[in-house]
Amino acid sequence: MMTPEEYRESLKRMNFKAYALGEPVEEPTEHPLIIPSQNAVAATFEIGQTEDSCSALGSCASHISGQSISRFTHTHRNTQDLINKVKMQRELGQRTGTCFQRCVGMDALNALSSTTYELEAEMGGESNQRFMAFLEHVQQNDLVSDGAMTDPKGDRSKRPHQQPDPDVYLHVTEKRSDGIIVNGAKLHQTGALNSHEIIVMPTMSMKPEDEAFAVSFAIPADTKGITYILGRQASDTRKMEPGTMDRGNVIYGGQECLVVFQDVFVPWERVFMCGETRFAGILVERFAGYHRQSYGGCKVGVGDVLIGAVAALMDYHGLSKVSHLKDKLVEMIHLNETLYACGIACSAEGYETPSGTYEISQLLANVCKLNVTRFPYEIARLAQDIVGGLMVTMPSEFDLNHPEVGPMMQKYLACSSGINTVCRLRMMRLVENITIGAGAVGYLTESMHGAGPPQAMRIMIGRQADVEYKKSLAKRLAGIGSVVEETCACS
Ligand code: SF4
Ligand code: FE
Repeated sequence: MMTPEEYRESLKRMNFKAYALGEPVEEPTEHPLIIPSQNAVAATFEIGQTEDSCSALGSCASHISGQSISRFTHTHRNTQDLINKVKMQRELGQRTGTCFQRCVGMDALNALSSTTYELEAEMGGESNQRFMAFLEHVQQNDLVSDGAMTDPKGDRSKRPHQQPDPDVYLHVTEKRSDGIIVNGAKLHQTGALNSHEIIVMPTMSMKPEDEAFAVSFAIPADTKGITYILGRQASDTRKMEPGTMDRGNVIYGGQECLVVFQDVFVPWERVFMCGETRFAGILVERFAGYHRQSYGGCKVGVGDVLIGAVAALMDYHGLSKVSHLKDKLVEMIHLNETLYACGIACSAEGYETPSGTYEISQLLANVCKLNVTRFPYEIARLAQDIVGGLMVTMPSEFDLNHPEVGPMMQKYLACSSGINTVCRLRMMRLVENITIGAGAVGYLTESMHGAGPPQAMRIMIGRQADVEYKKSLAKRLAGIGSVVEETCACS
């Protein structure tokens, strides 16, 4: 397993073609907008190390080699693995207060391990053999993979093959004896520029006419023809300013990119799906299910940070004994722990697939994520209620350090006696970061749309809930079918 430093060094050896704020990025590892997100991924390399208090969560035994590997490169062998995954994610959310980006790759590996197994069993070919060779490579080298699913989609009323510009869905443009050529793009790619490999998957279920779009493969993230355009985040340029206070989170941040594929060559040994449309929907559903489980860990960890920040500010403000504020804090905790309960529950109810990889309970993972589309917003609302408006109206760190106006800020923004005003202001900036600044990308909007928007969860919940069975329960107790014969047409 790599150390955080070895991880950073490994990224320096990559040769990305990247842009940020309209400029080419020569060296992503030295770019101030990117460094905080790299710090967050580097934290995933700390948690697996033996000296770390949570090493048992971050590392496990490979079922291929038997060696100790990062859990981020593991395919779950039992329900305890699924539970440990969520616990690890909560721990990392607590440590970083942001999205640490590496779960998309872990979730893609797990979804592909079972899907390629079933694909190869049904249709022949080498899908699973190729995937297993790739998995071994990832485990042996402790690589970060970016799981790339979301296509731009163009005209939403049209299927992929009907689009005037077919590139709005990533697709195969040529099949050669040695591999395939692909064109298209993937949106919202979490941690793409911090990854060694990029794992492409279809964005949705595909019909036979969409054969060219049912494609899945993995290639080194700096493969020729791939361009990364860094996403903007609210208040992101604060990361480029001197000083740290106004960043809120002084060490860590998230990252999303628009990733464009222009005539990218993929050798056959890295192609896991190419035209097997029936399996596109299965792969999408499994990847989304794992990532909906993931949010029951990572968002909870960030919620812990936010609750801690609010509680600290209540202390600083001399309000820690005010009953209605204490009650709101309890409400935040209740909502946060409910998310965690869902993440653990969908893991505990997991089951083995024919490949040996464990799946989560799809029903409970979708309930988990549907709650995630709501509860962080309510937790953030309560945080802003308790903390007050100063977090968005207070002057900058530049003013705080100014010889004339700095003392004015110190005097008029002071709080309880004995509390350093700067501590109060820094804590406010952290709340601002998570609820409205750069951190809100991961904590709020990603909670809404990451791993699919709320309607996607509703569809899955409706499909998984077995309402017919529930009807039969009710009919038995009402005596329908026993005391009275059921004759209605709706039966
Ligand atoms: Fe991991 Fe959460 Fe970021 Fe997804 S949003 S990559 S689950 S930290
Ligand atoms: Fe995500």
